[in-house]
Amino acid sequence: MFQRITHTPEETKQIAKTLAELLGAGDVLTLAGDLGAGKTTFTQGLASGLGIEEAVSSPTFTLIREYEGRIPLYHIDVYRLGEQAGGENLGWDEYFYGNGVTVVEWADFIKNWLPDEWLQIEIQKTGDLERTIHISGVGERFQRMVKELDDRCPI
Ligand code: ADP
Ligand code: MG
Repeated sequence: MFQRITHTPEETKQIAKTLAELLGAGDVLTLAGDLGAGKTTFTQGLASGLGIEEAVSSPTFTLIREYEGRIPLYHIDVYRLGEQAGGENLGWDEYFYGNGVTVVEWADFIKNWLPDEWLQIEIQKTGDLERTIHISGVGERFQRMVKELDDRCPI
């Protein structure tokens, strides 16, 4: 378990950027947290760490956005689909077992379709500018990744 408190959006992005160095093709990350917690902000840090220059915005109205970087980034936000997404496989495997890193906001809605191993990120708004970030790994690869992140993280 990795836990840090950040006090600016930049610090949140810095953690994500450090994490990005550890990621490879086929990795799946879930992002939980209320609206405005910083899920998209975190994803912007990931994108920057993956060498993506294009601006990352919230995919709420598009469901999935793809970005080209050192490794492609698939940013999925299933919020709009709500509970109905859980019942149906809308082709998620193409992303989860593809050539990129997949980040899923509101992954609870599609938890039936997640792979066996993934990285779980939770952001809580604990103050105006304060966010508490918890990261834990499901499966061996991601548990190791969390330890490495804990060692490397400058925050
Ligand atoms: P979500 O995608 O979870 O709905 P966003 O990333 O879109 O949230 O929005 C988070 C908002 O909170 C942004 O306006 C961001 O600038 C602000 N913010 C303030 N402090 C922080 C912090 N420490 N970490 C991340 N975001 C922060
Ligand atoms: Mg968002």
